[in-house]
Amino acid sequence: MEKVRTLCVFGTRPEAIKMVPIVRALERSEMFSNTICVTAQHRELLDGVLRSFSILPDYDLNIMEPDQEISSLTARLLQTLDPILRETSPDLLLVQGDTTTAFASALAAFYRRIPVAHVEAGLRTGSLSRPYPEEANRRLLGQIACLHFAPTQGNANNLRRENVPGSVYITGNTGMDVLRDSLAEDAPYQNSVLRSLEPQNRKILLLTCHRRENRGKPMEAVFAAAASLAVRYPEITVVLPLHRSPAVQKAVQICPANLPNFLLLDPLSVSDMHRLLRRCYFVMTDSGGLQEEAAALGKPTLVLRTETERPECLLAGTACLCGTDSEKILRTARQLLEDPVCYRRMAVATNIFGDGHSGERILRILTEYFQKTREGFEC
Ligand code: UDP
Repeated sequence: MEKVRTLCVFGTRPEAIKMVPIVRALERSEMFSNTICVTAQHRELLDGVLRSFSILPDYDLNIMEPDQEISSLTARLLQTLDPILRETSPDLLLVQGDTTTAFASALAAFYRRIPVAHVEAGLRTGSLSRPYPEEANRRLLGQIACLHFAPTQGNANNLRRENVPGSVYITGNTGMDVLRDSLAEDAPYQNSVLRSLEPQNRKILLLTCHRRENRGKPMEAVFAAAASLAVRYPEITVVLPLHRSPAVQKAVQICPANLPNFLLLDPLSVSDMHRLLRRCYFVMTDSGGLQEEAAALGKPTLVLRTETERPECLLAGTACLCGTDSEKILRTARQLLEDPVCYRRMAVATNIFGDGHSGERILRILTEYFQKTREGFEC
């Protein structure tokens, strides 16, 4: 029987990480012939993930330009992806998350009447401006996709409330599969600075901050608060793997140079990041994926945003919303450092985002779907 042709398109670090379990599952299956197209919306961070997981894309759109505007990025994505859709003529396009790559690829497929599956569907903050433009990307994708892979029950409820067309499945988040695999390996850190920290028994605070909404003063306030924690508590070490975005590189200049316990690192490999998460005392982040991973490992998390599309972390009690208000960040961090009861209350692992088998679950759904609808399935 002719194989089902799938096309996976992704362009940024988090999309690539969370697509790995699906790419691997499709590769293992006899039923599917998968093609990988990367847009390279974020070139360097994407390449790091491709290298880590030995993924060789069939197509590379190399779309990234300096200071790219969202509208020109969208236009270029539509234009460059369309010939690939024509050439590969997939039975299904798979996209992940909330990026412009995911939305524009789905739109291009929709224009060619190619069905779309959306991985990590149904996350909502309820505010179109936060995160921007990601909330809109995810909502628009909900209207185009015919298979929605929702990580949690809450995500599925959001989609059903919006009456999205097609079928909604609760699959868990594929990011949990990658986390499970990273931690199953007992390898040393690739990053030499992290290796040198390892023999010491210091409390590590892991910090990341890169979101568009936090650029400028809010990001400076976060970095300044973290630096003042490092000054006040010389026995801790703040580790900040810096995103490549010029806005992040600029904001971090607010921190005093040469603070011995405030470490600025290059972006980490996925497995180093997962090991550091397991090793750290708590996390301060505006990242979506890190909120999920920290919750899975029971690491208290200060969310550097005023809202989250992952309310599960708040409900589980592992995270609290601090925004970028330095007073609130400092107050919460001090509580965690000084009050063991408060720390223990938050340091509770939850598997609410998945059990590490989401890739296989999605493959099973796709297999059944195509077995049933091999002939003429339409959205
Ligand atoms: N991550 C990584 N190295 C880093 C920072 C993050 O591998 O230096 C991983 C992290 O573990 C998570 C993902 O990248 O799996 C999150 O990506 P990001 O914060 O860029 O995007 P978001 O999740 O907010 O969309």
